[in-house]
Amino acid sequence: MISIADNINSVSLRIQNATKSAGRQAGEVALLAVSKTKPSEAIRAAYAAGLRDFGENYLQEALQKIQELSDLSIQWHFIGPLQSNKTRQVAEHFHWIHTVDRLKIATRLSEQRPENMPLLNVCIQVNIDEEDSKSGVPLDEVKSLAADIAKLPRLCLRGLMCIPNPSHDQSTLAESFRKVAAVAEDLKSRHNTIDTLSMGMSQDMEVAIAEGSTIVRIGTAIFGERDYSGR
Ligand SMILES: *Cc1c(COP(=O)(O)O)cnc(C)c1O
Repeated sequence: MISIADNINSVSLRIQNATKSAGRQAGEVALLAVSKTKPSEAIRAAYAAGLRDFGENYLQEALQKIQELSDLSIQWHFIGPLQSNKTRQVAEHFHWIHTVDRLKIATRLSEQRPENMPLLNVCIQVNIDEEDSKSGVPLDEVKSLAADIAKLPRLCLRGLMCIPNPSHDQSTLAESFRKVAAVAEDLKSRHNTIDTLSMGMSQDMEVAIAEGSTIVRIGTAIFGERDYSGR
């Protein structure tokens, strides 16, 4: 039987070690627990072990868990692809979205963000392996999309997110992460809200941290393998 608390300890240790090896300050890298396909009880266990940030990919599944766990003070992050007809639920129920890749989605999210909630934190998803994925904006379009998103009143542009092709070797992964980090560094001088690089998953968190990640998104290493057969 896996223990979620034990897994969180091991992941935290991996993050600490990678942060130190990279010559970075302890605490610079936050842990986002990716709970897609996992039941609310698994999230409760991770919460009891100290985690407060959880990431979900599928909107209907996420909304059900948000309701079931409304007694906890969780920061919910939407990290899946989003269709423009589903933006309202993200605007009304999440604290963060990591996967904005077009202005239409961002505009709707800003218009639909309720006045009584804090600004919705946004990362732009960058497509760094262009032929491999349909999601994300190409690196050379990030700057202009960021400038447009930064003008939207109910969003707070926090940074960039990427999902490199997991089959790439370590040095190719590192190169991809480095390119995204360089663009984020350039954006920082234009937009003072930028402080986030959402990069790194169970398999590649060390590489991502070495290249400047500030949020690693970890599913399998915390909750175990996912079972998609029921979806
Ligand atoms: C599923 C998922 C993760 C977590 O992946 P693991 O390999 O299980 O750690 C991270 N980010 C995104 C966008 C995901 O969809």
